[in-house]
Amino acid sequence: MSQKLTGVRGMPDILPEEIPSWQHIESVMFSVLRRYGYREIRLPLLERTELFKRSIGEITDIVEKEMYSFEDRNGDGLTLRPEMTAGIVRSGINHGLFHNQKQKLWSIGPMFRYEKPQHGRSRQFHQFDVEAFGFEGPDIDLELLLIASRIWKELDINAIELQINSIGTPECRSEYRDVLIKYFNDYRNDLDDEEVARLNRNPMRLLDSKKEKIQGLIKSAPKITDYLDSESAEHFSQLQELLLATGLNYKINPRLVRGLDYYTRTVFEWTTDKLGSQSAVCAGGRYDGLVQQLGGKSTNAVGWALGMERLVELYQIESSSSPEINPDLYLVAVGEKAFSAALTLAEELRNKDPKLSIEVNCGGGSFKVQFKRADKSGAKLALILGEEELHNKKIGIKPLRDDRDQQTVSWTDIATSIKTYL
Ligand code: ATP
Ligand code: MG
Repeated sequence: MSQKLTGVRGMPDILPEEIPSWQHIESVMFSVLRRYGYREIRLPLLERTELFKRSIGEITDIVEKEMYSFEDRNGDGLTLRPEMTAGIVRSGINHGLFHNQKQKLWSIGPMFRYEKPQHGRSRQFHQFDVEAFGFEGPDIDLELLLIASRIWKELDINAIELQINSIGTPECRSEYRDVLIKYFNDYRNDLDDEEVARLNRNPMRLLDSKKEKIQGLIKSAPKITDYLDSESAEHFSQLQELLLATGLNYKINPRLVRGLDYYTRTVFEWTTDKLGSQSAVCAGGRYDGLVQQLGGKSTNAVGWALGMERLVELYQIESSSSPEINPDLYLVAVGEKAFSAALTLAEELRNKDPKLSIEVNCGGGSFKVQFKRADKSGAKLALILGEEELHNKKIGIKPLRDDRDQQTVSWTDIATSIKTYL
Protein backbone atom coordinates (compact mmCIF):
# COMPACT_ATOMS: atom_id res chain seq x y z
CA MET A 1 0.00 0.00 0.00
CA SER A 2 1.39 3.40 -0.84
CA GLN A 3 1.84 6.01 1.86
CA LYS A 4 -1.16 8.13 2.80
CA LEU A 5 -0.90 11.78 1.82
CA THR A 6 -1.84 14.38 4.39
CA GLY A 7 -3.19 17.87 3.80
CA VAL A 8 -1.06 20.98 4.31
CA ARG A 9 -0.50 21.96 7.95
CA GLY A 10 -2.82 24.74 9.06
CA MET A 11 -5.11 24.35 6.04
CA PRO A 12 -8.14 22.50 7.38
CA ASP A 13 -10.80 20.71 5.36
CA ILE A 14 -14.33 21.84 6.08
CA LEU A 15 -16.34 18.64 6.15
CA PRO A 16 -20.01 18.22 5.16
CA GLU A 17 -21.31 18.26 8.75
CA GLU A 18 -19.85 21.74 9.22
CA ILE A 19 -21.40 23.14 6.06
CA PRO A 20 -24.98 23.80 7.23
CA SER A 21 -23.70 26.36 9.76
CA TRP A 22 -21.49 27.99 7.12
CA GLN A 23 -24.31 28.16 4.58
CA HIS A 24 -26.76 29.52 7.11
CA ILE A 25 -24.34 32.25 8.17
CA GLU A 26 -23.50 33.06 4.56
CA SER A 27 -27.14 33.32 3.58
CA VAL A 28 -27.83 35.66 6.51
CA MET A 29 -24.83 37.81 5.58
CA PHE A 30 -25.68 37.91 1.87
CA SER A 31 -29.25 38.88 2.69
CA VAL A 32 -28.22 41.62 5.14
CA LEU A 33 -25.76 43.12 2.67
CA ARG A 34 -28.33 43.08 -0.11
CA ARG A 35 -30.80 44.87 2.15
CA TYR A 36 -28.22 47.60 2.84
CA GLY A 37 -27.48 48.09 -0.87
CA TYR A 38 -24.03 46.48 -1.02
CA ARG A 39 -22.86 44.54 -4.10
CA GLU A 40 -20.56 41.53 -4.32
CA ILE A 41 -17.15 41.64 -5.96
CA ARG A 42 -15.05 38.51 -6.69
CA LEU A 43 -11.30 38.73 -7.02
CA PRO A 44 -8.34 36.42 -7.68
CA LEU A 45 -6.56 34.70 -4.80
CA LEU A 46 -3.20 35.76 -6.23
CA GLU A 47 -1.95 39.31 -6.42
CA ARG A 48 1.45 40.84 -7.04
CA THR A 49 3.53 40.70 -3.86
CA GLU A 50 4.23 44.40 -4.20
CA LEU A 51 0.54 45.21 -3.68
CA PHE A 52 0.63 43.87 -0.13
CA LYS A 53 4.00 45.38 0.69
CA ARG A 54 2.78 48.79 -0.38
CA SER A 55 -0.59 48.61 1.38
CA ILE A 56 -0.31 46.49 4.54
CA GLY A 57 3.17 47.91 5.17
CA GLU A 58 6.66 46.38 5.11
CA ILE A 59 7.07 46.35 8.89
CA THR A 60 4.02 44.34 9.86
CA ASP A 61 3.58 40.73 10.96
CA ILE A 62 1.77 39.88 7.76
CA VAL A 63 4.38 41.19 5.32
CA GLU A 64 7.44 40.29 7.40
CA LYS A 65 6.57 36.72 8.21
CA GLU A 66 3.13 35.53 7.18
CA MET A 67 2.85 35.80 3.41
CA TYR A 68 2.87 32.88 1.01
CA SER A 69 4.99 34.48 -1.69
CA PHE A 70 6.62 32.82 -4.67
CA GLU A 71 7.81 33.44 -8.19
CA ASP A 72 5.68 32.03 -10.97
CA ARG A 73 7.19 30.41 -14.07
CA ASN A 74 7.61 33.80 -15.59
CA GLY A 75 9.59 35.10 -12.61
CA ASP A 76 6.77 37.41 -11.39
CA GLY A 77 6.58 37.83 -7.62
CA LEU A 78 3.11 36.71 -6.50
CA THR A 79 1.42 36.24 -3.13
CA LEU A 80 -1.63 34.33 -1.98
CA ARG A 81 -3.81 37.06 -0.54
CA PRO A 82 -3.47 37.46 3.26
CA GLU A 83 -6.40 39.89 3.32
CA MET A 84 -8.87 41.35 0.84
CA THR A 85 -8.82 45.13 1.14
CA ALA A 86 -5.67 45.64 -0.93
CA GLY A 87 -7.07 43.55 -3.80
CA ILE A 88 -10.39 45.39 -3.77
CA VAL A 89 -8.59 48.74 -3.92
CA ARG A 90 -6.35 47.47 -6.72
CA SER A 91 -9.36 46.25 -8.66
CA GLY A 92 -11.30 49.46 -8.06
CA ILE A 93 -8.42 51.53 -9.42
CA ASN A 94 -7.94 49.24 -12.44
CA HIS A 95 -11.63 49.41 -13.37
CA GLY A 96 -12.30 53.04 -12.55
CA LEU A 97 -14.77 52.10 -9.81
CA PHE A 98 -13.79 55.10 -7.68
CA HIS A 99 -14.07 57.60 -10.49
CA ASN A 100 -16.93 60.01 -9.72
CA GLN A 101 -18.87 57.29 -7.97
CA LYS A 102 -19.35 55.78 -4.58
CA GLN A 103 -19.07 52.04 -4.02
CA LYS A 104 -20.52 49.75 -1.39
CA LEU A 105 -19.02 46.31 -1.83
CA TRP A 106 -18.61 42.94 -0.16
CA SER A 107 -16.63 39.79 -0.87
CA ILE A 108 -15.96 36.42 0.71
CA GLY A 109 -13.25 33.81 0.32
CA PRO A 110 -10.10 32.14 1.60
CA MET A 111 -7.08 34.04 2.94
CA PHE A 112 -3.58 32.71 3.56
CA ARG A 113 -1.20 33.58 6.37
CA TYR A 114 1.80 31.56 7.51
CA GLU A 115 0.97 31.70 11.22
CA LYS A 116 1.39 29.21 14.04
CA PRO A 117 -1.68 27.00 13.63
CA GLN A 118 -3.77 26.73 16.80
CA HIS A 119 -7.39 26.83 17.85
CA GLY A 120 -9.01 29.74 16.00
CA ARG A 121 -5.91 30.44 13.95
CA SER A 122 -5.14 28.61 10.73
CA ARG A 123 -3.01 29.20 7.64
CA GLN A 124 -5.93 29.09 5.28
CA PHE A 125 -9.01 30.77 6.73
CA HIS A 126 -12.00 32.61 5.32
CA GLN A 127 -13.00 36.21 5.57
CA PHE A 128 -16.21 38.00 4.80
CA ASP A 129 -15.29 41.51 3.83
CA VAL A 130 -17.32 44.72 3.52
CA GLU A 131 -15.92 47.95 2.09
CA ALA A 132 -17.34 51.40 1.26
CA PHE A 133 -15.56 53.92 -0.96
CA GLY A 134 -16.20 57.62 -1.47
CA PHE A 135 -17.81 58.50 1.87
CA GLU A 136 -16.12 60.99 4.13
CA GLY A 137 -18.37 61.39 7.13
CA PRO A 138 -18.74 59.13 10.15
CA ASP A 139 -22.23 58.10 8.99
CA ILE A 140 -20.70 55.39 6.83
CA ASP A 141 -18.50 54.22 9.74
CA LEU A 142 -21.72 53.82 11.70
CA GLU A 143 -23.48 52.02 8.85
CA LEU A 144 -20.71 49.44 8.66
CA LEU A 145 -20.98 48.85 12.41
CA LEU A 146 -24.76 48.56 12.18
CA ILE A 147 -24.38 45.97 9.42
CA ALA A 148 -22.11 43.85 11.60
CA SER A 149 -24.46 44.26 14.53
CA ARG A 150 -27.43 43.17 12.44
CA ILE A 151 -25.57 40.05 11.33
CA TRP A 152 -24.93 39.11 14.98
CA LYS A 153 -28.59 39.77 15.78
CA GLU A 154 -29.91 37.63 12.94
CA LEU A 155 -27.57 34.83 14.01
CA ASP A 156 -28.68 35.05 17.69
CA ILE A 157 -25.17 35.98 18.77
CA ASN A 158 -25.05 38.10 21.91
CA ALA A 159 -21.61 37.46 23.37
CA ILE A 160 -19.85 40.00 21.20
CA GLU A 161 -18.55 43.41 22.11
CA LEU A 162 -17.55 46.41 20.03
CA GLN A 163 -14.35 48.31 20.74
CA ILE A 164 -13.51 51.47 18.86
CA ASN A 165 -10.63 53.90 18.65
CA SER A 166 -9.28 56.60 16.39
CA ILE A 167 -5.70 56.57 15.16
CA GLY A 168 -5.91 59.91 13.35
CA THR A 169 -3.96 60.79 10.24
CA PRO A 170 -0.38 59.89 9.27
CA GLU A 171 0.58 63.46 10.21
CA CYS A 172 -0.65 63.35 13.80
CA ARG A 173 0.71 59.84 14.10
CA SER A 174 4.22 61.06 13.45
CA GLU A 175 4.14 63.13 16.64
CA TYR A 176 2.66 60.17 18.51
CA ARG A 177 5.34 57.90 17.07
CA ASP A 178 8.07 60.01 18.68
CA VAL A 179 6.28 59.96 22.02
CA LEU A 180 5.87 56.21 21.78
CA ILE A 181 9.52 55.62 20.89
CA LYS A 182 10.56 57.71 23.86
CA TYR A 183 8.21 55.78 26.16
CA PHE A 184 9.29 52.29 25.08
CA ASN A 185 12.94 53.30 25.02
CA ASP A 186 12.82 53.65 28.78
CA TYR A 187 11.88 49.96 28.96
CA ARG A 188 14.29 48.72 26.29
CA ASN A 189 15.49 45.88 28.51
CA ASP A 190 12.03 44.37 28.51
CA LEU A 191 11.95 44.20 24.71
CA ASP A 192 13.40 41.43 22.56
CA ASP A 193 15.50 42.11 19.44
CA GLU A 194 12.54 42.06 17.10
CA GLU A 195 10.63 44.50 19.29
CA VAL A 196 13.59 46.85 19.50
CA ALA A 197 13.87 46.80 15.71
CA ARG A 198 10.15 47.54 15.43
CA LEU A 199 10.38 50.30 17.99
CA ASN A 200 12.54 52.33 15.68
CA ARG A 201 10.85 51.52 12.41
CA ASN A 202 7.15 51.14 13.28
CA PRO A 203 6.54 51.67 17.02
CA MET A 204 2.73 51.45 16.78
CA ARG A 205 3.06 47.79 15.89
CA LEU A 206 4.32 47.20 19.44
CA LEU A 207 0.86 48.13 20.74
CA ASP A 208 -0.54 45.32 18.65
CA SER A 209 1.80 42.71 20.11
CA LYS A 210 0.24 39.64 21.70
CA LYS A 211 3.33 38.89 23.82
CA GLU A 212 2.31 38.44 27.44
CA LYS A 213 5.54 39.98 28.70
CA ILE A 214 4.87 43.47 27.37
CA GLN A 215 1.11 43.66 27.95
CA GLY A 216 1.67 45.74 31.11
CA LEU A 217 3.88 48.15 29.19
CA ILE A 218 1.30 48.46 26.44
CA LYS A 219 -1.42 49.20 28.99
CA SER A 220 0.43 52.17 30.39
CA ALA A 221 1.67 53.52 27.05
CA PRO A 222 0.66 57.02 25.91
CA LYS A 223 -2.70 57.11 24.12
CA ILE A 224 -3.03 58.02 20.45
CA THR A 225 -6.30 59.81 21.20
CA ASP A 226 -4.33 62.46 23.11
CA TYR A 227 -2.49 63.33 19.88
CA LEU A 228 -5.33 63.48 17.37
CA ASP A 229 -5.62 66.44 15.01
CA SER A 230 -8.82 68.43 15.50
CA GLU A 231 -10.60 67.01 12.43
CA SER A 232 -9.91 63.43 13.43
CA ALA A 233 -11.01 64.18 16.97
CA GLU A 234 -14.23 65.70 15.60
CA HIS A 235 -14.84 62.68 13.35
CA PHE A 236 -14.35 60.39 16.34
CA SER A 237 -16.71 62.32 18.61
CA GLN A 238 -19.36 62.50 15.88
CA LEU A 239 -19.14 58.75 15.43
CA GLN A 240 -19.67 58.29 19.16
CA GLU A 241 -22.71 60.57 19.09
CA LEU A 242 -24.15 58.55 16.23
CA LEU A 243 -23.48 55.32 18.09
CA LEU A 244 -25.24 56.65 21.17
CA ALA A 245 -28.18 57.84 19.07
CA THR A 246 -28.67 54.40 17.53
CA GLY A 247 -28.15 52.63 20.85
CA LEU A 248 -25.24 50.52 19.61
CA ASN A 249 -23.08 49.71 22.64
CA TYR A 250 -19.34 50.24 22.38
CA LYS A 251 -16.21 50.65 24.44
CA ILE A 252 -13.32 52.93 23.63
CA ASN A 253 -10.06 51.01 23.61
CA PRO A 254 -7.24 53.58 23.32
CA ARG A 255 -4.69 50.81 22.60
CA LEU A 256 -6.54 49.45 19.61
CA VAL A 257 -4.32 50.27 16.61
CA ARG A 258 -4.79 47.28 14.26
CA GLY A 259 -1.95 45.34 12.67
CA LEU A 260 -1.94 46.93 9.22
CA ASP A 261 -0.41 50.27 8.29
CA TYR A 262 -3.11 51.62 6.01
CA TYR A 263 -5.68 52.58 8.65
CA THR A 264 -6.61 56.20 9.42
CA ARG A 265 -9.02 57.65 11.98
CA THR A 266 -11.71 55.13 12.99
CA VAL A 267 -10.58 51.60 13.86
CA PHE A 268 -12.69 48.96 15.56
CA GLU A 269 -12.84 45.34 16.60
CA TRP A 270 -15.66 43.04 17.66
CA THR A 271 -14.45 40.56 20.25
CA THR A 272 -15.97 37.71 22.21
CA ASP A 273 -15.07 35.95 25.44
CA LYS A 274 -16.38 32.62 24.15
CA LEU A 275 -13.50 31.59 21.90
CA GLY A 276 -10.49 31.58 24.21
CA SER A 277 -7.48 33.64 23.24
CA GLN A 278 -8.37 34.06 19.54
CA SER A 279 -11.08 36.51 20.51
CA ALA A 280 -11.30 38.92 17.55
CA VAL A 281 -14.23 38.01 15.31
CA CYS A 282 -14.45 41.07 13.08
CA ALA A 283 -12.17 44.06 12.63
CA GLY A 284 -11.62 47.03 10.42
CA GLY A 285 -11.52 50.75 10.08
CA ARG A 286 -11.07 53.70 7.84
CA TYR A 287 -8.23 53.86 5.29
CA ASP A 288 -8.61 57.21 3.58
CA GLY A 289 -5.07 57.24 2.16
CA LEU A 290 -4.84 53.81 0.58
CA VAL A 291 -6.46 54.38 -2.82
CA GLN A 292 -4.12 57.27 -3.54
CA GLN A 293 -1.15 55.42 -2.11
CA LEU A 294 -1.77 52.62 -4.61
CA GLY A 295 -1.96 54.99 -7.56
CA GLY A 296 -5.64 56.00 -7.62
CA LYS A 297 -7.10 59.39 -6.90
CA SER A 298 -7.70 60.33 -3.28
CA THR A 299 -10.77 58.38 -2.10
CA ASN A 300 -12.28 57.99 1.34
CA ALA A 301 -12.65 54.37 2.35
CA VAL A 302 -13.73 52.24 5.27
CA GLY A 303 -14.27 48.52 5.73
CA TRP A 304 -14.16 45.47 7.93
CA ALA A 305 -13.37 41.79 7.66
CA LEU A 306 -14.78 39.02 9.77
CA GLY A 307 -13.18 35.65 10.33
CA MET A 308 -15.64 33.00 9.15
CA GLU A 309 -14.17 30.10 11.14
CA ARG A 310 -14.38 32.09 14.38
CA LEU A 311 -17.90 33.28 13.59
CA VAL A 312 -19.04 29.73 12.76
CA GLU A 313 -17.69 28.50 16.08
CA LEU A 314 -19.28 31.36 17.99
CA TYR A 315 -22.57 30.75 16.20
CA GLN A 316 -22.48 27.06 17.15
CA ILE A 317 -21.85 28.00 20.79
CA GLU A 318 -24.44 30.77 20.95
CA SER A 319 -27.31 29.64 18.76
CA SER A 320 -29.90 27.35 20.29
CA SER A 321 -31.13 25.82 17.04
CA SER A 322 -29.08 24.25 14.27
CA PRO A 323 -29.90 24.91 10.63
CA GLU A 324 -32.24 22.40 8.96
CA ILE A 325 -30.64 20.49 6.08
CA ASN A 326 -32.37 17.11 6.11
CA PRO A 327 -34.37 16.10 3.04
CA ASP A 328 -38.15 16.21 3.21
CA LEU A 329 -38.50 12.83 1.54
CA TYR A 330 -36.48 9.67 1.12
CA LEU A 331 -37.66 7.54 -1.75
CA VAL A 332 -37.36 3.82 -1.05
CA ALA A 333 -37.60 1.72 -4.22
CA VAL A 334 -37.21 -2.06 -4.24
CA GLY A 335 -36.83 -3.96 -7.50
CA GLU A 336 -35.15 -2.91 -10.73
CA LYS A 337 -38.29 -1.62 -12.41
CA ALA A 338 -39.35 0.27 -9.31
CA PHE A 339 -35.99 1.95 -9.17
CA SER A 340 -36.13 3.54 -12.61
CA ALA A 341 -39.75 4.53 -11.97
CA ALA A 342 -38.61 6.11 -8.71
CA LEU A 343 -36.19 8.46 -10.45
CA THR A 344 -38.92 9.55 -12.88
CA LEU A 345 -41.43 10.06 -10.08
CA ALA A 346 -38.92 12.12 -8.11
CA GLU A 347 -38.34 14.35 -11.14
CA GLU A 348 -42.10 14.88 -11.47
CA LEU A 349 -42.37 15.84 -7.81
CA ARG A 350 -39.42 18.24 -8.18
CA ASN A 351 -41.18 19.84 -11.17
CA LYS A 352 -44.38 20.26 -9.17
CA ASP A 353 -42.73 21.70 -6.05
CA PRO A 354 -39.25 23.15 -6.54
CA LYS A 355 -38.86 23.63 -2.77
CA LEU A 356 -39.22 19.93 -2.00
CA SER A 357 -35.99 18.10 -1.20
CA ILE A 358 -36.03 14.45 -2.18
CA GLU A 359 -33.29 11.92 -1.74
CA VAL A 360 -33.77 8.89 -3.96
CA ASN A 361 -32.27 5.64 -2.72
CA CYS A 362 -29.39 4.86 -5.06
CA GLY A 363 -27.54 1.55 -5.12
CA GLY A 364 -30.51 -0.77 -4.49
CA GLY A 365 -30.86 -2.80 -1.30
CA SER A 366 -33.65 -4.58 0.55
CA PHE A 367 -36.54 -2.72 2.21
CA LYS A 368 -34.76 -3.11 5.53
CA VAL A 369 -31.48 -1.64 4.29
CA GLN A 370 -33.23 1.21 2.51
CA PHE A 371 -35.33 2.14 5.55
CA LYS A 372 -32.14 2.30 7.61
CA ARG A 373 -30.72 4.76 5.10
CA ALA A 374 -33.99 6.71 5.06
CA ASP A 375 -33.83 7.02 8.82
CA LYS A 376 -30.19 8.09 8.76
CA SER A 377 -30.89 10.72 6.10
CA GLY A 378 -33.05 12.60 8.60
CA ALA A 379 -35.93 12.78 6.08
CA LYS A 380 -39.36 13.50 7.49
CA LEU A 381 -41.16 11.02 5.24
CA ALA A 382 -40.29 7.87 3.36
CA LEU A 383 -41.96 7.27 0.02
CA ILE A 384 -42.20 3.56 -0.71
CA LEU A 385 -42.25 2.07 -4.15
CA GLY A 386 -42.24 -1.75 -4.41
CA GLU A 387 -43.36 -4.15 -7.15
CA GLU A 388 -46.95 -4.02 -5.95
CA GLU A 389 -47.15 -0.21 -5.77
CA LEU A 390 -45.55 -0.01 -9.20
CA HIS A 391 -48.12 -2.36 -10.62
CA ASN A 392 -51.02 -0.31 -9.17
CA LYS A 393 -49.41 3.09 -9.92
CA LYS A 394 -49.44 3.87 -6.21
CA ILE A 395 -46.92 4.85 -3.58
CA GLY A 396 -46.64 4.43 0.19
CA ILE A 397 -46.08 7.48 2.41
CA LYS A 398 -44.60 6.71 5.81
CA PRO A 399 -43.84 9.36 8.45
CA LEU A 400 -40.38 8.71 9.87
CA ARG A 401 -40.28 11.17 12.77
CA ASP A 402 -43.66 10.64 14.45
CA ASP A 403 -46.28 7.90 14.75
CA ARG A 404 -48.84 9.18 12.28
CA ASP A 405 -50.30 6.44 10.05
CA GLN A 406 -48.77 5.22 6.83
CA GLN A 407 -50.88 5.79 3.72
CA THR A 408 -50.96 4.53 0.17
CA VAL A 409 -51.95 7.03 -2.52
CA SER A 410 -52.08 7.04 -6.30
CA TRP A 411 -49.26 8.71 -8.25
CA THR A 412 -51.45 11.62 -9.29
CA ASP A 413 -52.13 12.49 -5.64
CA ILE A 414 -48.60 12.25 -4.25
CA ALA A 415 -47.83 15.98 -4.20
CA THR A 416 -51.03 16.96 -2.39
CA SER A 417 -50.83 14.08 0.08
CA ILE A 418 -47.23 14.91 0.97
CA LYS A 419 -48.28 18.46 1.81
CA THR A 420 -50.67 17.23 4.47
CA TYR A 421 -47.78 15.47 6.18
CA LEU A 422 -45.07 18.15 5.90
P1 ATP B 1 -5.62 38.40 15.21
O1 ATP B 1 -5.36 39.57 16.11
O2 ATP B 1 -6.50 37.35 15.82
O3 ATP B 1 -4.37 37.85 14.59
P2 ATP B 1 -5.87 40.10 12.95
O4 ATP B 1 -5.92 41.46 13.52
O5 ATP B 1 -4.60 39.60 12.38
O6 ATP B 1 -6.45 39.04 14.01
P3 ATP B 1 -7.43 40.87 10.66
O7 ATP B 1 -6.31 40.96 9.73
O8 ATP B 1 -8.06 42.08 11.17
O9 ATP B 1 -7.01 39.92 11.89
O10 ATP B 1 -8.56 39.92 10.04
C1 ATP B 1 -9.93 40.05 10.38
C2 ATP B 1 -10.46 38.81 11.05
O11 ATP B 1 -10.04 37.64 10.38
C3 ATP B 1 -9.96 38.61 12.47
O12 ATP B 1 -10.70 39.40 13.37
C4 ATP B 1 -10.19 37.13 12.68
O13 ATP B 1 -11.54 36.86 13.01
C5 ATP B 1 -9.90 36.56 11.31
N1 ATP B 1 -8.54 36.00 11.23
C6 ATP B 1 -7.38 36.66 11.06
N2 ATP B 1 -6.34 35.81 11.00
C7 ATP B 1 -6.87 34.55 11.14
C8 ATP B 1 -6.31 33.23 11.15
N3 ATP B 1 -5.02 33.03 10.98
N4 ATP B 1 -7.16 32.19 11.31
C9 ATP B 1 -8.49 32.38 11.47
N5 ATP B 1 -9.07 33.60 11.46
C10 ATP B 1 -8.28 34.68 11.30
MG1 MG C 1 -3.09 38.41 13.04
